[in-house]
Amino acid sequence: LTVLGLESSCDDTAAAVIRHAPPARAEILSNVVLGQTDLHAAFGGVVPELAARAHAEKLDLAVEAALEQAGLTLNMVDAIAVTAGPGLIGGVLSGVMLAKGLAAATGLPMIGVNHLAGHALTPRLTDGVEFPYLMLLVSGGHCQFLIAHGPDHFTRLGGTIDDAPGEAFDKTAKLLALPQPGGPSVQAQAATGNATRFALPRPLIDRDDCNMSFSGLKTAVLRTRDGLIAEHGGLRASDRADLCAGFQQAVADVLVAKSRRALAQYMELCPARPVFAVAGGVAANTVLRAGLEGLARDMGLRFVAPPLALCTDNAAMIAWAGLERLRMGARDDMTLAARPRWPLDQSAAPMLGSGK
Ligand code: ATP
Ligand code: FE
Repeated sequence: LTVLGLESSCDDTAAAVIRHAPPARAEILSNVVLGQTDLHAAFGGVVPELAARAHAEKLDLAVEAALEQAGLTLNMVDAIAVTAGPGLIGGVLSGVMLAKGLAAATGLPMIGVNHLAGHALTPRLTDGVEFPYLMLLVSGGHCQFLIAHGPDHFTRLGGTIDDAPGEAFDKTAKLLALPQPGGPSVQAQAATGNATRFALPRPLIDRDDCNMSFSGLKTAVLRTRDGLIAEHGGLRASDRADLCAGFQQAVADVLVAKSRRALAQYMELCPARPVFAVAGGVAANTVLRAGLEGLARDMGLRFVAPPLALCTDNAAMIAWAGLERLRMGARDDMTLAARPRWPLDQSAAPMLGSGK
């Protein structure tokens, strides 16, 4: 099967073509991501209205480029997969409307995909991981432990009760006048910093469950920053680097400690051939990846972390999630709705009624 995927739920306009002919591993024939970083730079965050307009303008180009790089024309693909939520509604709508237009023009099947399922199923695209596996989905808007039982079937073991780590990275960058997105710029600063200079909190780390909290950490960064400014009249380069390193380490420590708990629960429920996988933009963080990999090694588990470009938003993961749903017999019709909210552990229920 060859599937064209479209993604426009946040600030990346993306289109990709993948092909899968089992038993071979899936192939990514093209993976085009047109970012909007410059567009939002002056505002210190993504402006939904600007994002929606840019998606509407650039989606066509992304699709053309993805098909061209794959060496295919639209009528040579088997289906069109599109992010139908959750995300910024204007952007999601742009993608869904284009997918409907392309499906109507070609007669190709169209599949609405949950963006989070795209992230959570990525280890199957990249490494052929089999169900069930434990997924730490850690991104700009989400942070949760999921047991992935099937393409449409996830059980949530716990997650953040307030901010997502990606959001915390972005806010920390903003507090320290570093460029957005915050993850890569904080990581770059942290590389030369001393992670132990500032005592930053690790909220809920000792609580015996899989829930997390990151908003207090961000407040602690703010207070530490203000203390340094009061003391020295500004931030020195080393202050910034040490604060970034301390923040990054605190996030990684919490995620590793909670992963240990989630893995224990998961291994009790699914003892055969356990696999621990991570996905989402924050999974691109090298310190976090190393921490999680070490944990998996200690526990004797296979650890899978997709390449960086498939951790952050992309359409290859949407094409893959669509392909998996297509194989299950799913198919959407012109009533497919764009959804601003769409929790993953309920993804099976609302979709089954539509189309087919
Ligand atoms: P969601 O998937 O929850 O809807 P999103 O699609 O906006 O949110 P992603 O694209 O998956 O999120 O991830 C983007 C986030 O990942 C941003 O918050 C960004 O700062 C963060 N990020 C990217 N690279 C890194 C990194 N190296 N270290 C830490 N965070 C990172
Ligand atoms: Fe995402």
